[in-house]
Amino acid sequence: MRETKPIILSRDQHCVSRKQIDESSLKVLYRLHRHGFKAYLVGGSVRDLLLGRQPKDFDIGTDATPSQVRKLFRNCFLVGRRFRLAHIRFAGNKLIEVATLRRHPTEEELPDNPDDHSHFVQNVFGTPCEDAFRRDFTINALFYNIGDFSVIDYVGGLQDLKKKQIRVIGDPLVRFVEDPVRMLRAIEFAARLNFSIDQNIYSAIEKHKALLSSAAPARIREEIMELFRHKISGSVLKHCRELGMLPHLLAGYPGTDESIALLEKIDRRTASGIPIEESFAIAALYLRLFMDICPHGEKINISEVLHKANEIIVPHCHYFSIASGIRHQARELLIGCFRLARGRGFRGERRFLQHPFTPRALELFTLWSEVRPELEPLLANWSRAIEQQKTPNAQNPPQKRRRNNRRRKKPQQEKLEN
Ligand code: ATP
Ligand code: MG
Repeated sequence: MRETKPIILSRDQHCVSRKQIDESSLKVLYRLHRHGFKAYLVGGSVRDLLLGRQPKDFDIGTDATPSQVRKLFRNCFLVGRRFRLAHIRFAGNKLIEVATLRRHPTEEELPDNPDDHSHFVQNVFGTPCEDAFRRDFTINALFYNIGDFSVIDYVGGLQDLKKKQIRVIGDPLVRFVEDPVRMLRAIEFAARLNFSIDQNIYSAIEKHKALLSSAAPARIREEIMELFRHKISGSVLKHCRELGMLPHLLAGYPGTDESIALLEKIDRRTASGIPIEESFAIAALYLRLFMDICPHGEKINISEVLHKANEIIVPHCHYFSIASGIRHQARELLIGCFRLARGRGFRGERRFLQHPFTPRALELFTLWSEVRPELEPLLANWSRAIEQQKTPNAQNPPQKRRRNNRRRKKPQQEKLEN
């Protein structure tokens, strides 16, 4: 690859200050530099600092090889099978990731299996310029050099930051075939930063969106959870629906208006400081579909409801290899919402009120009732009952259950409930 001349902003030409950089990351940068290696802050952290945002993490790029990095730091261990990364541990279980600068693999270095789209993580070291060009978007390929405190731009990222636009490095038609997850990341970063999307990205998505279903499920799962963590699940999945990406991204998720509206409520909840759990996110994704196939006005027993919840949750969890504990919680949330929507007075209510999952189901149901205001009176009624359950009234101690030795007949129990 031909080396491109970068734009270099010296310290007085940009706003990135060392005061904004995490202390442990600075220590790592300085130590690498003192030992004669190139040491850069790379990726999202430079982008965020230039935008005046707080970076999520501070990734470091260097020309030291992983084993050279390990020799410099006592608290360092190497991870990764295909691409070795150095993890340096600091007090408080803090980890700083150091990656050796790398480049695009050549044709011969590509994996034999053409379906393996993960080859951008091949273990081939490169120059800073080559490292910039293997990245996804121009705004994600800026470097901050600890050697002279300059910002280095090989790909036009500074201009795109100014213009507030997401632009792929190179031809999106090629880069999306190389790694289809980049299509989702383009929509994600545009939503996160409130940037516009380059027209050629849209054309390439139109052409290659079906490739999303060939991407590694674990990576899609991670990006989807990123959407929830960044409080943009509603807006991004709505955009994905408009672009026809949903069937290739989340095969069982219909993305109806009401379901998107619920995700927007979930995002607001996350923005208020409540951390999002994956089970909650999964239940939120499928609640509308579940309510459709389990209409609470009809006679339906709980074992049937359980079956329907499984029909929705199991394929999702199976495809994304989601642990059974999370799957179980997501299913319980759906069933809890069904019980809440069905109303009061059914058998098993007392146990339901005491169940540890019920307050969480109520939280989800509360957001759902914002989408479906006709549920609000019911919600108020349940909320009172659940609150009373949490703080039992001293004058009204819970009645002692009469003990008798008769066992209930299990199979009839669920039927009687309805
Ligand atoms: P965040 O704030 O979410 O951490 P980020 O830009 O740091 O944003 P990461 O997913 O942490 O995003 O990735 C770190 C960097 O690695 C990116 O900035 C980008 O330069 C590069 N990168 C990540 N994923 C890809 C990809 N699929 N293709 C090419 N480069 C990628
Ligand atoms: Mg990052």
